[in-house]
Amino acid sequence: REAIKENDEPERIPPFAGRRKSVVPQEFHKGNKRLSCVVKPSDMQTKRGKYGESSRPNQKIYDMIQEFRETLEITRISTSDIIEPQRICVCVRKRPLNKQELTKKDLDVVSVPGKGALLVHEPKQKVDLTKYLDNHIFQFDYSFNENATNDQVYNFTAKPLVQSIFEGSMATCFAYGQTGSGKTHTMGGDFTGKQQNSSKGIYALAAQDVFTNINHRRYASLDLSAFVSFFEIYNGKVYDLLNKKAKLRVLEDDRQQVNVVGLEEVYVTKAEEVIKMIQIGSACRTSGQTSANANSSRSHAILQIVLRRKKGALHGKFSLIDLAGNERGTDVSSNDRSTLVETAEINQSLLALKECIRSLGKNSDYIPFRMSTLTKVLRDSFIGEKSKTCMIAMVSPSMSSCEYTMNTLRYADRVKELNGNSKAGG
Ligand code: ADP
Ligand code: MG
Repeated sequence: REAIKENDEPERIPPFAGRRKSVVPQEFHKGNKRLSCVVKPSDMQTKRGKYGESSRPNQKIYDMIQEFRETLEITRISTSDIIEPQRICVCVRKRPLNKQELTKKDLDVVSVPGKGALLVHEPKQKVDLTKYLDNHIFQFDYSFNENATNDQVYNFTAKPLVQSIFEGSMATCFAYGQTGSGKTHTMGGDFTGKQQNSSKGIYALAAQDVFTNINHRRYASLDLSAFVSFFEIYNGKVYDLLNKKAKLRVLEDDRQQVNVVGLEEVYVTKAEEVIKMIQIGSACRTSGQTSANANSSRSHAILQIVLRRKKGALHGKFSLIDLAGNERGTDVSSNDRSTLVETAEINQSLLALKECIRSLGKNSDYIPFRMSTLTKVLRDSFIGEKSKTCMIAMVSPSMSSCEYTMNTLRYADRVKELNGNSKAGG
Protein backbone atom coordinates (compact mmCIF):
# COMPACT_ATOMS: atom_id res chain seq x y z
CA ARG A 1 0.00 0.00 0.00
CA GLU A 2 2.80 2.35 0.92
CA ALA A 3 4.54 1.68 -2.37
CA ILE A 4 1.48 2.59 -4.37
CA LYS A 5 1.16 5.81 -2.46
CA GLU A 6 4.69 6.81 -3.27
CA ASN A 7 4.33 6.08 -6.97
CA ASP A 8 1.25 8.20 -7.10
CA GLU A 9 2.90 11.18 -5.50
CA PRO A 10 3.40 13.58 -8.43
CA GLU A 11 -0.20 13.41 -9.64
CA ARG A 12 -1.78 13.69 -6.28
CA ILE A 13 -0.21 16.97 -5.30
CA PRO A 14 -2.81 19.63 -5.79
CA PRO A 15 -1.75 22.99 -7.14
CA PHE A 16 -2.61 24.80 -3.93
CA ALA A 17 -0.08 22.79 -2.06
CA GLY A 18 2.26 25.71 -2.05
CA ARG A 19 5.41 26.49 -3.87
CA ARG A 20 8.55 24.79 -2.89
CA LYS A 21 10.54 26.84 -0.48
CA SER A 22 13.21 27.72 -3.00
CA VAL A 23 11.02 28.71 -5.93
CA VAL A 24 9.85 32.07 -4.78
CA PRO A 25 13.16 33.63 -3.83
CA GLN A 26 14.86 32.31 -6.99
CA GLU A 27 12.29 33.90 -9.20
CA PHE A 28 12.71 37.17 -7.43
CA HIS A 29 16.48 37.01 -7.85
CA LYS A 30 16.05 36.35 -11.55
CA GLY A 31 13.92 39.45 -11.78
CA ASN A 32 16.59 41.39 -10.01
CA LYS A 33 19.28 40.33 -12.45
CA ARG A 34 17.18 41.31 -15.41
CA LEU A 35 16.63 44.71 -13.96
CA SER A 36 20.28 45.27 -13.24
CA CYS A 37 21.06 45.00 -16.97
CA VAL A 38 19.13 48.16 -17.56
CA VAL A 39 20.98 51.20 -16.33
CA LYS A 40 18.85 53.13 -13.89
CA PRO A 41 19.42 56.41 -12.16
CA SER A 42 21.03 55.61 -8.85
CA ASP A 43 18.27 56.97 -6.66
CA MET A 44 15.85 54.76 -8.52
CA GLN A 45 17.98 51.75 -7.69
CA THR A 46 18.11 52.49 -4.03
CA LYS A 47 14.34 52.68 -3.96
CA ARG A 48 14.15 49.22 -5.38
CA GLY A 49 14.35 46.50 -2.83
CA LYS A 50 16.38 43.36 -2.88
CA TYR A 51 13.54 41.58 -4.62
CA GLY A 52 13.52 43.76 -7.67
CA GLU A 53 9.92 44.89 -7.60
CA SER A 54 9.39 48.47 -8.56
CA SER A 55 9.31 50.72 -5.55
CA ARG A 56 6.23 50.53 -3.39
CA PRO A 57 5.07 52.37 -0.33
CA ASN A 58 6.26 49.65 2.01
CA GLN A 59 9.28 48.26 0.21
CA LYS A 60 11.21 47.75 3.44
CA ILE A 61 8.45 45.68 5.01
CA TYR A 62 7.98 43.76 1.80
CA ASP A 63 11.67 42.86 1.80
CA MET A 64 11.56 41.75 5.40
CA ILE A 65 8.57 39.52 4.73
CA GLN A 66 10.27 37.97 1.69
CA GLU A 67 13.38 37.37 3.71
CA PHE A 68 11.35 35.67 6.40
CA ARG A 69 9.56 33.53 3.81
CA GLU A 70 12.88 32.25 2.53
CA THR A 71 13.44 30.63 5.88
CA LEU A 72 10.08 28.90 5.89
CA GLU A 73 9.80 25.20 5.42
CA ILE A 74 6.78 24.63 3.19
CA THR A 75 4.87 21.40 3.64
CA ARG A 76 2.39 20.59 0.99
CA ILE A 77 -1.04 19.39 1.87
CA SER A 78 -2.05 16.52 -0.34
CA THR A 79 -5.34 14.83 -1.11
CA SER A 80 -3.87 11.63 0.24
CA ASP A 81 -3.48 13.17 3.66
CA ILE A 82 -5.63 11.27 6.06
CA ILE A 83 -8.59 13.35 7.10
CA GLU A 84 -9.33 12.37 10.63
CA PRO A 85 -12.94 12.87 11.56
CA GLN A 86 -13.13 15.18 14.52
CA ARG A 87 -15.80 16.68 16.66
CA ILE A 88 -14.53 20.19 16.18
CA CYS A 89 -12.41 21.12 13.23
CA VAL A 90 -11.02 24.62 12.82
CA CYS A 91 -9.40 25.64 9.54
CA VAL A 92 -8.19 28.82 7.93
CA ARG A 93 -8.31 29.94 4.33
CA LYS A 94 -6.34 32.83 2.88
CA ARG A 95 -7.70 34.46 -0.27
CA PRO A 96 -5.47 36.02 -2.93
CA LEU A 97 -4.90 39.78 -3.04
CA ASN A 98 -7.68 41.27 -5.14
CA LYS A 99 -7.38 43.75 -8.00
CA GLN A 100 -8.04 46.73 -5.79
CA GLU A 101 -5.36 45.70 -3.30
CA LEU A 102 -2.88 45.04 -6.08
CA THR A 103 -3.56 48.44 -7.60
CA LYS A 104 -2.92 50.10 -4.26
CA LYS A 105 0.25 48.02 -3.93
CA ASP A 106 -1.03 46.62 -0.70
CA LEU A 107 1.23 43.93 0.74
CA ASP A 108 0.52 40.26 1.32
CA VAL A 109 1.38 39.81 5.00
CA VAL A 110 0.07 36.27 5.45
CA SER A 111 2.09 33.10 4.85
CA VAL A 112 0.74 29.56 4.80
CA PRO A 113 3.58 27.09 5.22
CA GLY A 114 1.12 24.20 5.38
CA LYS A 115 0.21 21.54 7.93
CA GLY A 116 -2.36 23.80 9.51
CA ALA A 117 0.10 26.59 10.21
CA LEU A 118 -0.44 30.19 9.24
CA LEU A 119 1.70 33.25 9.87
CA VAL A 120 0.84 36.90 10.02
CA HIS A 121 3.78 39.22 9.51
CA GLU A 122 2.53 42.27 11.32
CA PRO A 123 4.49 45.41 10.40
CA LYS A 124 5.45 47.48 13.42
CA GLN A 125 7.57 50.47 14.22
CA LYS A 126 9.98 51.04 17.10
CA VAL A 127 10.11 54.35 18.94
CA ASP A 128 13.12 55.34 16.83
CA LEU A 129 10.92 54.73 13.76
CA THR A 130 12.79 51.64 12.57
CA LYS A 131 10.42 49.13 11.05
CA TYR A 132 10.23 45.52 12.11
CA LEU A 133 7.94 42.54 11.76
CA ASP A 134 5.97 41.01 14.56
CA ASN A 135 5.46 37.47 13.28
CA HIS A 136 2.47 35.67 14.74
CA ILE A 137 2.17 31.93 14.34
CA PHE A 138 -1.19 30.19 14.41
CA GLN A 139 -1.88 26.49 14.29
CA PHE A 140 -5.15 25.04 13.03
CA ASP A 141 -6.33 21.66 11.82
CA TYR A 142 -5.82 22.69 8.22
CA SER A 143 -4.61 25.85 6.54
CA PHE A 144 -5.31 26.70 2.92
CA ASN A 145 -3.28 29.16 0.90
CA GLU A 146 -4.46 31.54 -1.83
CA ASN A 147 -4.27 28.86 -4.51
CA ALA A 148 -6.67 26.46 -2.84
CA THR A 149 -9.90 25.76 -4.68
CA ASN A 150 -13.32 25.36 -3.11
CA ASP A 151 -13.13 21.68 -3.97
CA GLN A 152 -9.96 21.24 -1.98
CA VAL A 153 -11.26 23.20 0.98
CA TYR A 154 -14.46 21.17 0.87
CA ASN A 155 -12.63 17.83 1.00
CA PHE A 156 -10.94 18.68 4.26
CA THR A 157 -13.82 20.50 5.95
CA ALA A 158 -17.44 19.74 5.05
CA LYS A 159 -17.05 16.43 3.27
CA PRO A 160 -16.39 14.37 6.41
CA LEU A 161 -19.47 15.98 7.96
CA VAL A 162 -21.73 14.86 5.12
CA GLN A 163 -20.74 11.33 5.97
CA SER A 164 -21.59 11.91 9.59
CA ILE A 165 -25.18 13.02 9.02
CA PHE A 166 -25.85 9.64 7.44
CA GLU A 167 -24.66 8.13 10.71
CA GLY A 168 -27.26 10.27 12.48
CA SER A 169 -25.18 13.35 13.32
CA MET A 170 -26.12 16.96 13.56
CA ALA A 171 -23.37 18.79 11.75
CA THR A 172 -22.52 22.43 11.24
CA CYS A 173 -20.01 24.16 9.01
CA PHE A 174 -19.35 27.88 9.50
CA ALA A 175 -17.63 30.41 7.28
CA TYR A 176 -16.23 33.12 9.56
CA GLY A 177 -14.33 36.28 8.76
CA GLN A 178 -14.46 39.95 7.88
CA THR A 179 -16.56 41.20 4.97
CA GLY A 180 -14.70 40.57 1.73
CA SER A 181 -12.56 37.74 3.08
CA GLY A 182 -14.24 35.04 0.98
CA LYS A 183 -17.08 33.54 3.04
CA THR A 184 -19.69 33.66 0.29
CA HIS A 185 -17.12 32.64 -2.31
CA THR A 186 -16.37 29.54 -0.26
CA MET A 187 -19.92 28.59 0.73
CA GLY A 188 -22.02 29.80 -2.19
CA GLY A 189 -19.56 29.40 -5.04
CA ASP A 190 -16.88 31.46 -6.75
CA PHE A 191 -17.69 34.59 -8.67
CA THR A 192 -17.12 35.42 -12.31
CA GLY A 193 -17.66 39.14 -12.09
CA LYS A 194 -20.96 39.43 -10.25
CA GLN A 195 -22.17 36.04 -11.43
CA GLN A 196 -21.82 33.35 -8.81
CA ASN A 197 -21.17 29.76 -9.86
CA SER A 198 -23.50 28.11 -7.39
CA SER A 199 -22.38 24.62 -8.32
CA LYS A 200 -18.83 25.37 -7.13
CA GLY A 201 -19.39 26.20 -3.49
CA ILE A 202 -19.42 24.09 -0.36
CA TYR A 203 -23.25 24.20 -0.31
CA ALA A 204 -23.45 22.49 -3.69
CA LEU A 205 -20.55 20.12 -3.12
CA ALA A 206 -22.18 18.92 0.09
CA ALA A 207 -25.50 18.46 -1.71
CA GLN A 208 -23.81 16.35 -4.37
CA ASP A 209 -22.31 14.07 -1.76
CA VAL A 210 -25.62 13.81 0.08
CA PHE A 211 -27.21 12.34 -3.04
CA THR A 212 -24.26 10.07 -3.71
CA ASN A 213 -24.73 8.65 -0.23
CA ILE A 214 -28.52 8.48 -0.29
CA ASN A 215 -28.30 6.22 -3.30
CA HIS A 216 -25.50 4.15 -1.85
CA ARG A 217 -26.11 0.52 -0.85
CA ARG A 218 -24.82 1.23 2.62
CA TYR A 219 -27.62 3.63 3.48
CA ALA A 220 -30.37 2.31 1.20
CA SER A 221 -32.06 0.39 3.99
CA LEU A 222 -32.54 3.63 5.95
CA ASP A 223 -34.88 4.84 3.23
CA LEU A 224 -33.91 8.48 3.73
CA SER A 225 -35.31 11.56 2.05
CA ALA A 226 -33.56 14.93 1.80
CA PHE A 227 -35.06 18.35 2.41
CA VAL A 228 -33.59 21.81 2.08
CA SER A 229 -34.28 25.04 3.89
CA PHE A 230 -32.48 28.33 3.53
CA PHE A 231 -32.92 31.29 5.83
CA GLU A 232 -31.25 34.42 7.06
CA ILE A 233 -30.84 35.94 10.51
CA TYR A 234 -30.68 39.70 10.47
CA ASN A 235 -30.80 41.72 13.69
CA GLY A 236 -31.94 38.65 15.57
CA LYS A 237 -34.91 38.05 13.25
CA VAL A 238 -35.34 35.07 10.97
CA TYR A 239 -36.29 35.50 7.30
CA ASP A 240 -37.10 32.64 4.94
CA LEU A 241 -34.97 32.90 1.81
CA LEU A 242 -37.07 30.27 0.05
CA ASN A 243 -40.28 32.16 0.75
CA LYS A 244 -39.74 35.78 -0.27
CA LYS A 245 -38.03 36.67 2.99
CA ALA A 246 -41.10 35.92 5.07
CA LYS A 247 -40.37 36.84 8.67
CA LEU A 248 -40.52 33.77 10.89
CA ARG A 249 -40.85 33.23 14.62
CA VAL A 250 -38.48 31.15 16.69
CA LEU A 251 -40.25 29.23 19.42
CA GLU A 252 -38.96 26.99 22.13
CA ASP A 253 -41.31 24.30 23.41
CA ASP A 254 -41.43 22.92 26.94
CA ARG A 255 -38.85 20.27 26.04
CA GLN A 256 -36.46 23.07 25.01
CA GLN A 257 -36.90 22.05 21.38
CA VAL A 258 -36.41 25.12 19.21
CA ASN A 259 -38.61 25.54 16.14
CA VAL A 260 -38.55 28.07 13.34
CA VAL A 261 -42.28 28.25 12.74
CA GLY A 262 -43.36 27.96 9.12
CA LEU A 263 -39.89 27.52 7.63
CA GLU A 264 -40.07 26.13 4.09
CA GLU A 265 -38.55 22.69 3.83
CA VAL A 266 -38.30 21.71 0.18
CA TYR A 267 -38.13 18.04 -0.73
CA VAL A 268 -35.19 17.46 -3.07
CA THR A 269 -34.18 14.43 -5.08
CA LYS A 270 -30.98 15.54 -6.75
CA ALA A 271 -28.14 18.01 -6.35
CA GLU A 272 -29.39 20.19 -9.21
CA GLU A 273 -32.55 20.88 -7.26
CA VAL A 274 -30.52 21.98 -4.25
CA ILE A 275 -28.43 24.25 -6.45
CA LYS A 276 -31.65 25.78 -7.77
CA MET A 277 -32.68 26.52 -4.17
CA ILE A 278 -29.26 28.02 -3.44
CA GLN A 279 -29.70 30.33 -6.42
CA ILE A 280 -33.21 31.34 -5.44
CA GLY A 281 -32.18 31.92 -1.83
CA SER A 282 -28.99 33.82 -2.67
CA ALA A 283 -30.88 36.08 -5.07
CA CYS A 284 -33.50 36.67 -2.40
CA ARG A 285 -30.78 37.48 0.12
CA THR A 286 -29.20 40.22 -1.93
CA SER A 287 -32.31 41.59 -3.65
CA GLY A 288 -33.09 45.24 -3.08
CA GLN A 289 -29.60 46.00 -1.86
CA THR A 290 -27.71 48.94 -3.21
CA SER A 291 -24.20 47.51 -3.00
CA ALA A 292 -23.15 43.91 -3.36
CA ASN A 293 -22.09 43.54 0.23
CA ALA A 294 -24.72 45.76 1.86
CA ASN A 295 -27.04 43.84 4.16
CA SER A 296 -25.82 40.39 3.29
CA SER A 297 -22.59 41.15 5.12
CA ARG A 298 -24.57 41.91 8.26
CA SER A 299 -26.71 38.81 8.27
CA HIS A 300 -26.07 35.14 8.80
CA ALA A 301 -27.28 32.85 6.01
CA ILE A 302 -28.10 29.26 6.93
CA LEU A 303 -28.61 26.47 4.45
CA GLN A 304 -29.86 23.24 5.99
CA ILE A 305 -29.91 19.83 4.42
CA VAL A 306 -32.15 17.59 6.49
CA LEU A 307 -32.34 13.80 6.25
CA ARG A 308 -35.65 12.25 7.27
CA ARG A 309 -36.86 8.69 7.62
CA LYS A 310 -40.03 7.44 6.05
CA LYS A 311 -42.49 8.95 8.48
CA GLY A 312 -40.66 12.24 8.69
CA ALA A 313 -38.54 11.41 11.72
CA LEU A 314 -35.29 13.37 11.77
CA HIS A 315 -32.23 11.27 10.98
CA GLY A 316 -29.49 13.84 10.49
CA LYS A 317 -29.01 17.48 9.66
CA PHE A 318 -26.26 19.54 8.08
CA SER A 319 -26.33 23.29 8.64
CA LEU A 320 -23.99 25.34 6.46
CA ILE A 321 -23.61 28.90 7.63
CA ASP A 322 -22.27 31.97 5.87
CA LEU A 323 -21.81 34.21 8.92
CA ALA A 324 -22.12 37.97 9.07
CA GLY A 325 -18.86 39.92 8.74
CA ASN A 326 -17.02 40.00 12.05
CA GLU A 327 -15.54 43.48 11.63
CA ARG A 328 -16.01 45.80 14.55
CA GLY A 329 -18.45 48.63 14.45
CA THR A 330 -15.83 51.27 15.19
CA ASP A 331 -14.93 51.98 11.59
CA VAL A 332 -18.41 51.78 10.13
CA SER A 333 -18.71 55.01 8.19
CA SER A 334 -22.21 55.83 9.32
CA ASN A 335 -22.32 55.46 13.05
CA ASP A 336 -26.07 55.78 13.24
CA ARG A 337 -28.17 53.95 15.74
CA SER A 338 -29.35 51.15 13.51
CA THR A 339 -25.77 50.33 12.54
CA LEU A 340 -24.74 50.20 16.16
CA VAL A 341 -27.63 47.91 16.99
CA GLU A 342 -26.67 45.67 14.08
CA THR A 343 -23.07 45.53 15.21
CA ALA A 344 -23.99 44.72 18.77
CA GLU A 345 -26.29 41.97 17.55
CA ILE A 346 -23.59 40.45 15.35
CA ASN A 347 -20.97 40.62 18.09
CA GLN A 348 -23.37 38.99 20.51
CA SER A 349 -24.22 36.13 18.15
CA LEU A 350 -20.59 35.46 17.25
CA LEU A 351 -19.68 35.47 20.92
CA ALA A 352 -22.54 33.07 21.63
CA LEU A 353 -21.42 30.85 18.79
CA LYS A 354 -17.90 30.62 20.13
CA GLU A 355 -19.19 29.75 23.60
CA CYS A 356 -21.54 27.07 22.24
CA ILE A 357 -18.81 25.41 20.22
CA ARG A 358 -16.50 25.50 23.20
CA SER A 359 -19.17 23.86 25.34
CA LEU A 360 -19.53 21.20 22.67
CA GLY A 361 -15.80 20.63 22.76
CA LYS A 362 -15.76 20.33 26.53
CA ASN A 363 -18.76 18.02 26.50
CA SER A 364 -20.31 20.45 28.89
CA ASP A 365 -23.91 20.03 30.04
CA TYR A 366 -24.48 23.73 29.84
CA ILE A 367 -24.80 25.11 26.33
CA PRO A 368 -25.42 28.87 26.35
CA PHE A 369 -27.58 28.69 23.24
CA ARG A 370 -30.10 31.27 24.45
CA MET A 371 -27.54 34.05 24.04
CA SER A 372 -28.53 34.67 20.41
CA THR A 373 -31.03 33.75 17.71
CA LEU A 374 -28.24 32.11 15.73
CA THR A 375 -27.33 29.70 18.50
CA LYS A 376 -31.00 29.14 19.36
CA VAL A 377 -31.89 27.91 15.90
CA LEU A 378 -28.77 25.73 15.90
CA ARG A 379 -29.39 24.39 19.38
CA ASP A 380 -29.80 20.72 18.38
CA SER A 381 -26.43 20.90 16.64
CA PHE A 382 -24.59 21.71 19.86
CA ILE A 383 -25.95 18.89 21.96
CA GLY A 384 -25.45 15.18 21.97
CA GLU A 385 -22.57 12.86 21.38
CA LYS A 386 -22.93 12.98 17.64
CA SER A 387 -22.76 16.70 17.06
CA LYS A 388 -19.87 17.78 14.88
CA THR A 389 -18.73 21.14 13.68
CA CYS A 390 -16.23 22.73 11.37
CA MET A 391 -15.25 26.37 11.28
CA ILE A 392 -13.45 27.85 8.31
CA ALA A 393 -11.87 31.17 9.21
CA MET A 394 -11.41 33.32 6.12
CA VAL A 395 -8.64 35.88 6.00
CA SER A 396 -7.61 38.57 3.61
CA PRO A 397 -3.85 38.62 2.92
CA SER A 398 -3.52 42.39 2.81
CA MET A 399 -1.54 44.57 5.16
CA SER A 400 -4.50 46.96 5.37
CA SER A 401 -6.65 44.14 6.81
CA CYS A 402 -4.00 42.97 9.26
CA GLU A 403 -5.91 43.97 12.37
CA TYR A 404 -9.11 42.26 11.23
CA THR A 405 -7.14 39.20 10.24
CA MET A 406 -5.62 39.02 13.71
CA ASN A 407 -9.10 39.30 15.26
CA THR A 408 -10.39 36.50 13.05
CA LEU A 409 -7.47 34.24 13.86
CA ARG A 410 -7.69 34.86 17.59
CA TYR A 411 -11.37 34.02 17.55
CA ALA A 412 -10.78 30.81 15.59
CA ASP A 413 -7.96 29.95 17.94
CA ARG A 414 -10.21 30.19 20.96
CA VAL A 415 -12.98 28.12 19.41
CA LYS A 416 -10.64 25.20 19.79
CA GLU A 417 -7.61 25.45 21.96
CA LEU A 418 -5.30 22.92 20.40
CA ASN A 419 -3.45 21.32 23.29
CA GLY A 420 -3.19 24.77 24.76
CA ASN A 421 0.13 25.47 23.05
CA SER A 422 -0.74 27.61 20.08
CA LYS A 423 1.02 30.92 20.02
CA ALA A 424 -1.56 33.53 19.25
CA GLY A 425 0.76 36.38 20.04
CA GLY A 426 -1.44 38.18 22.48
P1 ADP B 1 -17.47 37.78 2.04
O1 ADP B 1 -18.64 36.90 1.74
O2 ADP B 1 -16.60 37.23 3.12
O3 ADP B 1 -17.85 39.20 2.30
P2 ADP B 1 -16.83 37.30 -0.70
O4 ADP B 1 -16.95 35.81 -0.72
O5 ADP B 1 -17.97 38.06 -1.29
O6 ADP B 1 -16.53 37.82 0.75
O7 ADP B 1 -15.47 37.65 -1.43
C1 ADP B 1 -15.10 38.97 -1.75
C2 ADP B 1 -14.41 38.99 -3.11
O8 ADP B 1 -13.20 38.27 -3.07
C3 ADP B 1 -15.26 38.33 -4.19
O9 ADP B 1 -15.15 39.08 -5.37
C4 ADP B 1 -14.65 36.98 -4.36
O10 ADP B 1 -14.80 36.49 -5.66
C5 ADP B 1 -13.20 37.20 -4.02
N1 ADP B 1 -12.62 36.01 -3.39
C6 ADP B 1 -12.86 35.58 -2.16
N2 ADP B 1 -12.17 34.45 -1.88
C7 ADP B 1 -11.47 34.16 -2.98
C8 ADP B 1 -10.56 33.12 -3.33
N3 ADP B 1 -10.22 32.15 -2.47
N4 ADP B 1 -10.03 33.14 -4.57
C9 ADP B 1 -10.35 34.13 -5.44
N5 ADP B 1 -11.19 35.13 -5.18
C10 ADP B 1 -11.75 35.17 -3.97
MG1 MG C 1 -20.68 37.43 1.80
